[in-house]
Amino acid sequence: MQSSELGEVTVMRVSEPQEIASGVVLMTTGSGPLASNVYLVRSGPSWAMIDSGWAASAEPLRAAVEQLLGPGEVPAAIFLTHLHPDHSGAAGTLARTWKIPAYVHRAELPMAAGRYVPGYSMPLDRWLVAPFVWSLPARVRRRIEAAGDITDVVHGLPRSGEVPGLPDWAAVPTPGHTPGHVAYWRSKDGVLMTGDAVTTVDLNSARGLLLRASHVSGPPWYTTWSRRTAMDSVARLAELGPRLLAPGHGQPIAMEVVPRLRAAAAKEKAQRMARRRRIAGAPEAA
Ligand SMILES: [Zn+2]
Ligand SMILES: [Zn+2]
Repeated sequence: MQSSELGEVTVMRVSEPQEIASGVVLMTTGSGPLASNVYLVRSGPSWAMIDSGWAASAEPLRAAVEQLLGPGEVPAAIFLTHLHPDHSGAAGTLARTWKIPAYVHRAELPMAAGRYVPGYSMPLDRWLVAPFVWSLPARVRRRIEAAGDITDVVHGLPRSGEVPGLPDWAAVPTPGHTPGHVAYWRSKDGVLMTGDAVTTVDLNSARGLLLRASHVSGPPWYTTWSRRTAMDSVARLAELGPRLLAPGHGQPIAMEVVPRLRAAAAKEKAQRMARRRRIAGAPEAA
């Protein structure tokens, strides 16, 4: 069936599935600066999905996943790194269609209703999204919020760090980009899924976005709740000793993962110190 038959106005493409590690399949939804990675992981006979891409990719993603898994098979659950539209946008539609749960860290749950929550805001929210949303008529605002509401399907991850149905995997808290961001970690072969905690495209520079060069860095600052906490999380991820870094944006990286993570965290720290010195030395603003 063509997705156009379903009447979607905008549909985002989904890339060919690519197995990047044993039982770990990568698909990318959308393209260019909007490209966002979705992973399928196998555990015994069952599969789970990690992140779900944009809402506009829900239908092609459903079709691609069902084709990959075979007749009558659907993933057992969707695990989200965090609640942002490029990672959790399709989660509601897919979870309802497949009648499966979606999981996110408990600290993300206040965002699950799709509403603006001041304590969770990031620069883009504060300067652009919130003022725009609040300028809309209440009716329109409620419709936008309702479209992003996943409270009917979302559950908090166990506090133990266990990932239900994926005994080889652990959810590792990586707060900063959002308060409840998690990475998913398979210690037996060092596979680390980082969502937006670490990306391999430089989302912070136009040049990095254009070249899409492999560049290990922290999250984009304009969508990050606390940059400092985010970079502390990058340093902690390096301590796990990952061998394959599978990011939310950009290509997986298997070379010198730990030194590159350490370098990203150290560079950020050096810039922060330099900024602080500049501010301390700057004359008072008039
Ligand atoms: Zn994000
Ligand atoms: Zn993202």
